[in-house]
Amino acid sequence: MKLVNLLDFDLDGLAAWCAERGEKRFRAVQLLRWIHQKGESDFGRMTDLARSLREKLAGHCEVRALPIVSEHQSADGTVKWLFDVGSGNAIETVFIPEADRGTLCLSSQAGCAVGCRFCSTGHQGFSRNLSTGEILAQLWHAEHALRARLALKPGERAITNVVMMGMGEPLQNYGALLPALRVMLDDHAYGLSRRRVTVSTSGMARLIDRLREDCPVALAVSLHAANDDLRDALVPLNRKHPLADLMQSCQHYLARAPRDFITFEYCMLDGVNDSPEQAQELVDLVNGRSPCTVPGLRVPCKINLIPFNPFPQSGLRRSPHERVLAFARVLQDAGLVATIRKTRGDDIDAACGQLAGEVLDRTRIHERLQRRREIIPIQPVATGVRA
Ligand code: SAH
Ligand code: SF4
Repeated sequence: MKLVNLLDFDLDGLAAWCAERGEKRFRAVQLLRWIHQKGESDFGRMTDLARSLREKLAGHCEVRALPIVSEHQSADGTVKWLFDVGSGNAIETVFIPEADRGTLCLSSQAGCAVGCRFCSTGHQGFSRNLSTGEILAQLWHAEHALRARLALKPGERAITNVVMMGMGEPLQNYGALLPALRVMLDDHAYGLSRRRVTVSTSGMARLIDRLREDCPVALAVSLHAANDDLRDALVPLNRKHPLADLMQSCQHYLARAPRDFITFEYCMLDGVNDSPEQAQELVDLVNGRSPCTVPGLRVPCKINLIPFNPFPQSGLRRSPHERVLAFARVLQDAGLVATIRKTRGDDIDAACGQLAGEVLDRTRIHERLQRRREIIPIQPVATGVRA
């Protein structure tokens, strides 16, 4: 008999499971606390549950941790875990400590079907969606491993923020993502505030609208280009979700978002999307003055410029730092908040876009990408000062 994985449930899911077995809702609360707050996976040790319930649980359920393939710690304190998710697939989870916070970056899929040109996960292709339990097992393991390692006292935290920025497009795995987000926010589990849980998406406009209704956490949108032609080439799902739709969904999201801005991620690619003219195009896009969006539609935002982390098959280069600074200056002079992301953990391949895990590509995206590279060469921009 296959055991039920209790990491697959949010509070309502656990309560429904309990109700089917004649147990009250507060049992689900107790279970959630034991599992997520105390890190307990042995039902026998859940001492405030009736013995009969403990026996029932032990016979039918488990808290299914993911087998660890490897763990690496970078010189800057970043930790990267590689977890085995079966059938030759492995996914990556990264913890990034900073002075005032600790951010855990979670994967949502084994691989990714979006196939962005500059992303090593995208180049690997797609195998499958992770279950809620597999998304939460990453957090569950990291939380309790770090608590033990840092000898944290109750109330102290290693993980203060969670970002869905590891492998995969979280909104393409919406059904599993939603209960996982709810557990992150639940005071009986991790109790993170909505502001400290971020979903990063390559721009699935209609699902941004759904997230707004179901569980509006902080939103990061990976933009990378401010016109549809270039974005079509860099982020293929732009053809289905063009900038006009995306910007509308972003603006709409703000009415329920925990922050009063959207974060736009913009990966700086040498000679592709990094000229001062393209910076101005970005200013126009977010201010509703671009032909690609609805006239007058302004989206309050912060722009996070990400230095491209190169990998051999990409055929792309990181923008020189001076060019990133010049790009940021155009944005700042127009009154926008623009930051340049520090790269962390690159000595252990844990930086953005370097998360490659091991993916059995079921979609042959890798081959399609190789073909597309031949069909849609990205033209270097001729304008602007070259550093
Ligand atoms: N699929 C989601 C979340 C995972 S990617 C998304 O695309 O938003 C997390 C972030 O890493 C995204 O902003 C993505 O654009 C960025 N990224 C991907 N490849 C990168 C690379 N090679 N260098 C720098 N950033 C990269
Ligand atoms: Fe997928 Fe995000 Fe990588 Fe694009 S950047 S291929 S959406 S993981």
